[in-house]
Amino acid sequence: MASNPPFTDEHEQLRESIRGFIDRELAPHSQEWEDEQWFPDEVFGKLADQGLLGLKYPAELGGQGGDYLHDAVLIEELARIGSGGTAAGIGAHVNIATPPIWKFGTEEQRQRYLVPAIRGELIGALGITEPGAGSDVAAIGTRAERVDGGFLVNGEKTYITNGVRAHFIVTAVKTTPEGGHGGISFLIVDRGEGITSAKLDKLGWHASDTATIAYQDVFVPEQNLLGELNGGFKLIMANFQWERLAMALGAVGAMRLAWERTAQFARERTAFGRPLSGHQAIRHRLADLAASAYSARCVTYDALRRFVAGEEPLREVTMAKLLTQRACYELMDACLQIHGGAGYMRELWVERAVRDARLGPIGGGTDEIMREILGRMLESPGGG
Ligand SMILES: Cc1cc2nc3c(=O)[nH]c(=O)nc-3n(C[C@H](O)[C@H](O)[C@H](O)COP(=O)(O)OP(=O)(O)OC[C@H]3O[C@@H](n4cnc5c(N)ncnc54)[C@H](O)[C@@H]3O)c2cc1C
Repeated sequence: MASNPPFTDEHEQLRESIRGFIDRELAPHSQEWEDEQWFPDEVFGKLADQGLLGLKYPAELGGQGGDYLHDAVLIEELARIGSGGTAAGIGAHVNIATPPIWKFGTEEQRQRYLVPAIRGELIGALGITEPGAGSDVAAIGTRAERVDGGFLVNGEKTYITNGVRAHFIVTAVKTTPEGGHGGISFLIVDRGEGITSAKLDKLGWHASDTATIAYQDVFVPEQNLLGELNGGFKLIMANFQWERLAMALGAVGAMRLAWERTAQFARERTAFGRPLSGHQAIRHRLADLAASAYSARCVTYDALRRFVAGEEPLREVTMAKLLTQRACYELMDACLQIHGGAGYMRELWVERAVRDARLGPIGGGTDEIMREILGRMLESPGGG
């Protein structure tokens, strides 16, 4: 495949090898994992054996010494698994749970958590959202009180991806209750005494363990404070950029695949004596969908290029997240429509793809919050 900037031929070779791996090792199990509402933890070990859990991390930590572009290739290709929940579980580990340890962690924390996470031996989760605080992150109520040698954590998180299986949870806590944004810190919390989690039932992403996590008098040692005390909001903001870009990349991969499959179906299925694609209404719908997938890709790659160049492209990343998630859901719905009754059946990939895509406009910051961020930028001088 010809490379498409910012990707180079080297990235395209990586893409080919990831595709081969996913088609061989993961995709054949997607139905089974969705039915079981769980994918096995061994998936992390298989990914690690291919070096895929540490593409952007340095070789000294067991990574591949690549960068965010290598991870971007992986994220796009995860759509091929055909199970949004499996991709989400892998994505939570690679895109949101381990990056803060790499970026803000001490050397000791990197050795203790990041190195085994890259080897697939420890699985991570990021716990920010709570029953009473989602979009309004500053309103979190999970308390971490200072005690001798560390902190005592009490509170509850919800909708946490990998919330049942994770060995460690990068947890947002309030260390200064009256501090608002300035009172949030992060602790790396090992699963153990005082922690209970319960899996939630949901519309899509069936193979992933989205869960509530309760913390009751959980002792967390001082050395597990991640980043600065009361400096957690900075970590959240830094993490959001890659998470949102990763979600945009996931949508780009999913849209391309869905379009290809649907176009092929439309060429093969006949109605009124000709292929569906021979009917102008369907042909034009496919043309619209191709344009939508292409524009999602252009917006996302532009944000990615800027992100990798070290700009802080808040506006472009926010736009990419906003545009791609709704577009992906709408494209999946249109693909289902083109499949007719077959599209409504559990056995066909597209029924799952629609359900899985519905999370996009909610997770990682809702569409409304993306508009709020952009709206505020437009109000400032020179904004827009
Ligand atoms: C499957 C799944 C996996 C998830 N994984 C994780 C995870 O791994 N870790 C984690 O920490 N969280 C996770 N989340 C949580 C997710 O990030 C939140 O659901 C999301 O940020 C929205 O928060 P909320 O659900 O509390 O909605 P709320 O914040 O209560 O919002 C409800 C509605 O009000 C709107 N709204 C809120 N504020 C405003 C405003 N100022 N202006 C206009 N409209 C507004 C929202 O857009 C939304 O439509 C996950 C969620 C799901 C569903």
